[in-house]
Amino acid sequence: MKEGKIRFNTVFVSDKVPSDAKIVELKEWSEKFQKNGLTPVVEGNYTGNLSFRLKDGFVITASGLKNKENLADNCFVNVKAYDEKANTFFVEGKKKPSSESIMHHLLYKANKEINAVFHGHNDNIVSHAEKMSLPITETEYESGTIELAKEVLKVMGNKELIVIRNHGFVSLGKNMKKAGELALHTLNQTKTSNLDSAHT
Ligand SMILES: [Zn+2]
Repeated sequence: MKEGKIRFNTVFVSDKVPSDAKIVELKEWSEKFQKNGLTPVVEGNYTGNLSFRLKDGFVITASGLKNKENLADNCFVNVKAYDEKANTFFVEGKKKPSSESIMHHLLYKANKEINAVFHGHNDNIVSHAEKMSLPITETEYESGTIELAKEVLKVMGNKELIVIRNHGFVSLGKNMKKAGELALHTLNQTKTSNLDSAHT
């Protein structure tokens, strides 16, 4: 299976598929993102990645998922810990975690109130970012790098949605509903701003 370039090591603590009750909700949001064009396959086989926090670590979509509808339980990975020095994730599951797991890890670490991190790609959101005064990352880095993760963290501050320059967006929330609705709301706003420009 082709996947976005993975720039970390993965140690499988066990092959146990995550069984947290909230996975149902993560499946629903994965499907909504797919249906609304927020997780298309983009250059390099990156799609998007969605996660929610656990007491220890987080559950995230696996890398290499082309379509995020009707995901089976084994398409999710339980990330238990990340050793920054060794750049190694310790996980439970059957697949490798999303190639953007470092970004999710850093966002959870820095924002204790945040329990969901959704990352998607959408040309409308990216191209309307300045017009809509959305925060945008400055320097461009390749997907999956620690540099990109740190740039996202820097621009995020205490905001809940930012745009990654020429790439996509990241939305956060105290729960999945908040993170998901914020992304959909932002997408809808781009449509309204399209209408505005048609009248001027
Ligand atoms: Zn991306």
